[in-house]
Amino acid sequence: MEHMSKPAKRVLLAKPRGYCAGVDRAVVTVEKALELYGPPVYVRKQIVHNKHVVSTLESKGAVFVEENEEVPPGSIVVFSAHGVAPVVHEEARERGLKAIDATCPLVTKVHAEARRFAAADYDILLIGHDGHEEVIGTTGEAPDHIKLVDGVADVDSVEVRDPEKVVWLSQTTLSVDETMDTVSALKRRFPLLQAPPSDDICYATQNRQQVVKQIAEECDLVLVVGSTNSSNSVRLVEVALQAGAAASHLVDYASEIEDAWLDAATTVGVTSGASVPDDLVQGVLDRLAEHGFTDVTEIESVKEKLTFSLPRELVKDMKAAAAS
Ligand code: SF4
Repeated sequence: MEHMSKPAKRVLLAKPRGYCAGVDRAVVTVEKALELYGPPVYVRKQIVHNKHVVSTLESKGAVFVEENEEVPPGSIVVFSAHGVAPVVHEEARERGLKAIDATCPLVTKVHAEARRFAAADYDILLIGHDGHEEVIGTTGEAPDHIKLVDGVADVDSVEVRDPEKVVWLSQTTLSVDETMDTVSALKRRFPLLQAPPSDDICYATQNRQQVVKQIAEECDLVLVVGSTNSSNSVRLVEVALQAGAAASHLVDYASEIEDAWLDAATTVGVTSGASVPDDLVQGVLDRLAEHGFTDVTEIESVKEKLTFSLPRELVKDMKAAAAS
């Protein structure tokens, strides 16, 4: 009788994965603020959308709040990587808070585009997810000019004042392919629709999706490490499935991986969202190794080198502290 050997279990590890420059900057901002001013340092909203990052910073003395009104006057408050509407800065000033703005510079860029097109009296069609913090922040820059388009389904109902003066902008962490579908549908309705001067979907979101697309077809299972409120992490699961992965799951921690998922798989892809520290991915690889997945190949699609300097207001205080 012919002997049938089982195919070897293997892991395809996506690179780039995990922390992007904006998340790294935001997390380091809170850590440095804690060192410099001492706890408590208040943080408005989750600094980045990752459970583990938030609980680690909490253990070091960060206090997460939803709104400025929960922060005692005179305290330090850090604004999250997703950005805030101008009114949030005003509220902080009125309350006598010292605000440190950890908004990712790539979100700030979209805010600037929104202000510029609003000043030129365009209607701005903002493609993004209703209720997401970044969308709320960007909309706050020009509430009278921005209309939310939450995917293709919204295209038919969106109203503009002048179809010859319309531009689309987007949230930074969307699916590239879905966004292009939405843009095509918008262009059919508004042939003179203008595009943003440069990509709004950020490099990190695009790169993480690109490498997942590359590996997904070969995978029986793609595990994405990330939290359920992390837009770019959720998109990675969708992209993996659309690109041919037989199954894909989002997990915050290795302990959430079910044996049945692994029993059914021979090739497992692993990646992580832009707000995920790599030790959580290592935990997933350890869990996979226990299950016989010891053959790990890293697939790198593009090298990332971008870094951002820390918020100006923090750097100024760090320099003053070092000088004294
Ligand atoms: S995912 Fe993109 S926009 Fe968001 S923090 Fe990272 S680099 Fe900035």
